[in-house]
Amino acid sequence: MKQVELVVHSPEETKTVARRLAEYLEPGMVIALEGDLGAGKTTFTKGLAEGLGITQTVNSPTFTIVKQYEGRLPLYHMDVYRLEDEWEDLGFDEYFAGDGVTVVEWAHLIAGQLPKERLTVFLFHRGGDERLLCFEPSGERYEQLCKEIFAS
Ligand code: ADP
Ligand code: MG
Repeated sequence: MKQVELVVHSPEETKTVARRLAEYLEPGMVIALEGDLGAGKTTFTKGLAEGLGITQTVNSPTFTIVKQYEGRLPLYHMDVYRLEDEWEDLGFDEYFAGDGVTVVEWAHLIAGQLPKERLTVFLFHRGGDERLLCFEPSGERYEQLCKEIFAS
């Protein structure tokens, strides 16, 4: 399994997909989110948070870069849109190596710092509320994850 594509038709459906993904996440997993402004990266993250049993409201961490939430697993939510350069050191490593799940919006902006093994989710506008979601696993663990989620 190299890549899985799904078309969704509403923000709620995007969250439902993310909630389902959350059930399969394990400590130390990293999810890179790519897509234009308004594509649904934060909406997807809200679904992940719900799926991890997080009851706090998840907002875009654009100004703080990283926010942490506590659920079944901790969730480290990053939005690196405003970083000055790819190598700016805000201690990302500690999050990636931590016991929680890390979600990075605009992940390619810190490409050099991302772990090689991760799940990348691309979100594309398709007009109105329709979005194309592409799941691209890198590494055995993430390929297995995608198999489990999308096999059924
Ligand atoms: P991003 O973080 O990628 O900039 P947001 O999740 O903050 O995007 O915003 C996405 C916006 O698009 C929200 O206002 C959301 O309600 C709307 N939207 C419409 N359809 C969808 C969809 N299918 N999935 C996600 N968001 C959608
Ligand atoms: Mg966002």
